[in-house]
Parts: sequence; structure tokens; C-alpha cells
Amino acid sequence: MFLMKTAKTTQIINKVLTIILLLFFSSCGKIILISPSENTLQASVNILLNRPGFDWVEYEIDNFSIYVERSSYAQEQVEWLKKNSEYALNRVSLLLGIEVYEGPIFHQFVVSSRDKMKKLIGWETNGIAFPRHRLYIEILSETLNSASSHELLHVVAFHEWGRTDSWINEGLAVYADDKWHGYDLHALAHYLNPDYSLE
Ligand SMILES: [Zn+2]
Repeated sequence: MFLMKTAKTTQIINKVLTIILLLFFSSCGKIILISPSENTLQASVNILLNRPGFDWVEYEIDNFSIYVERSSYAQEQVEWLKKNSEYALNRVSLLLGIEVYEGPIFHQFVVSSRDKMKKLIGWETNGIAFPRHRLYIEILSETLNSASSHELLHVVAFHEWGRTDSWINEGLAVYADDKWHGYDLHALAHYLNPDYSLE
């Protein structure tokens, strides 16, 4: 008996393979679920605000406190950042089935480079979430923009679902962006498999 590959089964196989490939190569920032007292990295808002070498300016909008470095590109782009954060919350809420988010505010730190990220938290990454503190850190510069829905999804998912298997959490965060390392997810899926189309 030979295996009949219908269009539907091929599509499902392609989808699974694409997600596996994306997760295999994905290197988003770590998700730190343990409390700071359990962790050598202490990343509460106050600790980050007082880290030497940073001069923060805080902007408050409905559901966010956004912290950018003074005189940075991110500060120049702060109006865009505000809109982007609201968009990200809408996107995350939609994905997680939250009608209107009415919880505590989120703390969004935006640094200007991977080097600055390292100075702030101890290692280089494009983004990192500290869900217990409703805190996440991204990069925005003229050459690198990791401000998206990804880290926020980790934060909100933690408070909605508690701990989940990391592949679900990470897969959904990648999906939240429609992006993977700056590449459009649909274009990337097509590149990995030209016969494939994401629904
Ligand atoms: Zn992630």
C-alpha cells in the first residue's frame, strides 16, 4: 500500500515542519520566570532604573510605562513606540482571548544596542521578558528594531496561563509578531518551503 498525500496532509506536514524549524533556530531572549530573589540577575524596575551608565526618561500611557535612554533614537521615536506598544497589546490580547486588558501596567525598557542590553542585564540579546514583574526589554536603534509583540506576549501569557511548555509560549510569541529575527514569517515559511503558505 502506498501513502496518498492529500493537499491537506501536505499542508499540515509543512506547517509542523516550519514551526519546528523556526523554534529550532529561534534565539529570542530568555524568559525569566523565577523571582529576582531566586535569580542572580535582579531585574526589578528599580534595579534597572538605577543601573550605572543609563539615563532613563519615562513615558506613561494607558497600560505602559516606557523607559528610553535620554537623547537616544528611541526617545526620538517615542510616539511611534507608544503606538507600537498599544498595537502589541491589542495583538497579544486578541491571540490570548482577552477582550479588553484591564490589568496592571507593563514596564517596557528600550535600549539602543545589544551592547547596552549586556550592560543592563549581563548578556547580549535582542529582547527579554521578566513576566513576574510585567517587565520586558527591547532594542530600538536606526539599525535594529526588536520592539514588537513578542516579549509582551511572554509577559501576558504568564499571567493568563501561568507556566506553560516553552515551545507553546515561544511558538505563540513568534506567531504574535509574524516575524522571526526581523524576517516576515510568511516570507520565511515560503523560503523554507516554496510550496507552503501560512493561513
Ligand atoms: Zn520569546
